[in-house]
Amino acid sequence: MSALKRFFVDAIGETAILSGEEFEHAKNVLRIGVGAEVILLDNSGKEYTAVVAQVEKKQMLLNIVREEIGSREANEEVCLLFGYLKNADKNEFIVQKAVELGVKKIGVFSSEYSSAYMNANKLERLNKVAKEASKQCLRSTYPEVVYYADLSSALASCKDYQNKLFACEFAEKSQTDLRKLSGSVAIVIGSEGGFSRAEAQNATQQGYALVSLGKRILRAETAGVALTSVVMFALGELQ
Ligand code: SAM
Repeated sequence: MSALKRFFVDAIGETAILSGEEFEHAKNVLRIGVGAEVILLDNSGKEYTAVVAQVEKKQMLLNIVREEIGSREANEEVCLLFGYLKNADKNEFIVQKAVELGVKKIGVFSSEYSSAYMNANKLERLNKVAKEASKQCLRSTYPEVVYYADLSSALASCKDYQNKLFACEFAEKSQTDLRKLSGSVAIVIGSEGGFSRAEAQNATQQGYALVSLGKRILRAETAGVALTSVVMFALGELQ
């Protein structure tokens, strides 16, 4: 039996209203009607089993029948910060895989060698990808994707993380042992242009450990998924 369809809504009480794109998808694509059971999510980490009571032109009304805490969130806070890439599909790929792997916060940044430009529509699209990925992998929350206009502010946004990892293509060896990670982790990946020496130095000054991913230069999207997977494995999330 396939899992119940999942929808994010703004507010949940004894009843909830599904509207906007989530409503259109439920009604027109999934053909969900009165009496159907679904899971509603409010991004709090709780999951609400609900039954469709009424379908109107622009919204549907649901009665909540049960609530529980979602069981698929990662135990630790892991944040992925990555340099915004020129190819939209690659940015979406990184966001989607990060959500599947359990990342709880995602930041995209512009840096010295990046040549792609962010705008409100592109950021909204990345947030939509995060939401869809979260539903698909049965998480009960999705990370908001935040844009930082410069690397320094992106790095500063994770100042309180216990482990801060800066994937540096010119690092000769890693300054930390990834096999011994525990606690919260911030991961930084550069864009296709990579990082400058000054940016790596700035990261070091902000408490980041330079990390090598080996002797080959990986594409940014490969590096993002590879390092996030290694971190999640070390934290015991991939077993
Ligand atoms: N333009 C850069 C160059 O020619 O050396 C390569 C940048 S790489 C495509 C994009 C990002 O992936 C890098 O900034 C880094 O964060 C990460 N990365 C790729 N290969 C890596 C490696 N071997 N070690 C550490 N980080 C790596």
